[in-house]
Amino acid sequence: MKYKRILLKLSGEALAGDQKHGIDDQIIGNICDKIKQISDMGVEISIVVGGGNFWRGIYGHKMEKNTSDYMGMLATTMNALALQDALEARGLDTRVQTAIEMHQIAEPFIRRKAIRHLEKGRIVIFGCGTGDTHFTTDTAAALRAAETEAEVILLAKTIDGVYSADPKENPNAIKYDEISYLDILNQDLKVMDSTATSLCKDNNIPLIVFGIDNEENIINIIKGEKVGTLVK
Ligand code: UDP
Repeated sequence: MKYKRILLKLSGEALAGDQKHGIDDQIIGNICDKIKQISDMGVEISIVVGGGNFWRGIYGHKMEKNTSDYMGMLATTMNALALQDALEARGLDTRVQTAIEMHQIAEPFIRRKAIRHLEKGRIVIFGCGTGDTHFTTDTAAALRAAETEAEVILLAKTIDGVYSADPKENPNAIKYDEISYLDILNQDLKVMDSTATSLCKDNNIPLIVFGIDNEENIINIIKGEKVGTLVK
């Protein structure tokens, strides 16, 4: 086992499947089966989940940016509860902690408590991103990874790694096995937003970008096999 404590970042869309909206039972089930496997191996797991499958930006609505961002954070909480439900259906112990307090449905984010849950083998799902508007859940992933001393962030994507350009638009795009945060920033590669990228860089947190469609990927990463792109 290469990693003892990881943070898994799932975008909202990763839970939606082909329909691109809402939650696909089969897909969330498959992801949670893999999470159970690595939890059974003894890996301490926290999860930051996005919200793009329920709410993404303003969609042409006339809406004030901060209000729209708050709606996005509420969307992440719906996904956090869905993940909690699917993980508990598989017999796992979980806690949801949210960056905006909603104490009837989740614990507030308390760093020391989150670490304690991890040490006890509970899976901690972080909802509401950072709790602040103008951020993304990628930044929340970088922040929570630093705060909980995760050894690595696993960034699940619909693409299987970091490419020099978008391979859907440019057939000559090459996939990197390894790349530095500085190169990502300099080349303006769309891996995470620049705030999240800088935070990972400054805190020396390695990131593995991998395709979510191959469900064995998560297991193989934990075993130390080369999967996707390693950013450090
Ligand atoms: N959001 C925010 N602050 C945060 C995290 C998220 O305001 O710390 C809002 C923002 O509007 C964002 C939305 O929540 O667009 C959903 O998060 P994100 O787009 O990162 O989800 P993903 O693309 O991973 O599904």
